[in-house]
Amino acid sequence: MDTDVLQSPRPMTDSSAPSEAHQSEAHQSEAHQSKSPLATVLSFDVEEHHRIEAAAKLTPSADSRAEYARRMEATTYDLLELLAAYSVRATFYLVGEIAESHPRLVQDIAAAGHEIGSHSHTHTNIHQLDPDRFRMEIRESKDVLEQVSGQPVWGFRAPTFSVTRRTAWAIDLLAEEGYRYDSSIFPVRHDRYGVPDAPRTPYIAHGIARSMLELPPLTWRRLGQNLPVAGGGYFRLFPLAMMRAGIRTMHAKPDSTPRIAMLYFHPWEFDIDQPRLPLGRLSRWRTYVGIARSRARLERLIQEHRSTFQTAADVVTQLEPMREQLPRFGLTP
Ligand SMILES: [Zn+2]
Repeated sequence: MDTDVLQSPRPMTDSSAPSEAHQSEAHQSEAHQSKSPLATVLSFDVEEHHRIEAAAKLTPSADSRAEYARRMEATTYDLLELLAAYSVRATFYLVGEIAESHPRLVQDIAAAGHEIGSHSHTHTNIHQLDPDRFRMEIRESKDVLEQVSGQPVWGFRAPTFSVTRRTAWAIDLLAEEGYRYDSSIFPVRHDRYGVPDAPRTPYIAHGIARSMLELPPLTWRRLGQNLPVAGGGYFRLFPLAMMRAGIRTMHAKPDSTPRIAMLYFHPWEFDIDQPRLPLGRLSRWRTYVGIARSRARLERLIQEHRSTFQTAADVVTQLEPMREQLPRFGLTP
């Protein structure tokens, strides 16, 4: 009888099931195909400018913190407008404390169809935390971001990409706290972060006893080295051609490999007039180089790769069923 059909309950879905916002049309049409996903992921690590690693030893005044918070909010709204103009959905990894100080901002990001992820609770480098404190960072931020946005938080991006071999235990804790993927292991050689021999395409990262799906930031393999072309200083300093080449070669891999170009930006990188932090010469240059041109560059990137954008959660939805086929990589020796 028809009524039986109408009255039969919908299949139960668990609380971590993807929200509608996580399921793009691209994902739905691709779910029937067996090949691995191809996507460009635009991600934004949202923190106030004074929280950056280079300023870790500074103690900005309450006035200057308030100013950076105001500017973070304004610039994030500008970015939301830009994304809306091109109907592009992105992933926003937010500092949990921002959900407490700016709940409306987090709600507006979620309402625009973007993914909400965690960028820790207080933006502390994991190398400075013990496992108990890190657990609080990822638990509190996930709780508050989910409560405020009404969206499940699946993903984590560590401050300063601080998931490394020394902090392999962080992978275990992310798995225990219900995260479904991480995007914090940069397969590059760098003075502050990186696991140079880690895979460049999505894989299963093994911590001490548990594992987690990893979406590594984009690198471009050049002359035997992985160049970090995913964002940051590389995006602002070098010709856009480098990031483009990275995206192109990633997307040109065989379709048995997930071809994910994970890019990252920070709202403060688009804020030309922000007051400069009193940094040392090298760090000042690294921090502010190319800021004046970054917005135009981002817009060009969006225009060029528009057809390939998906959120990280969309990508994860496609990768989870093929987990067994993904490469595995242990962070502990
Ligand atoms: Zn950050």
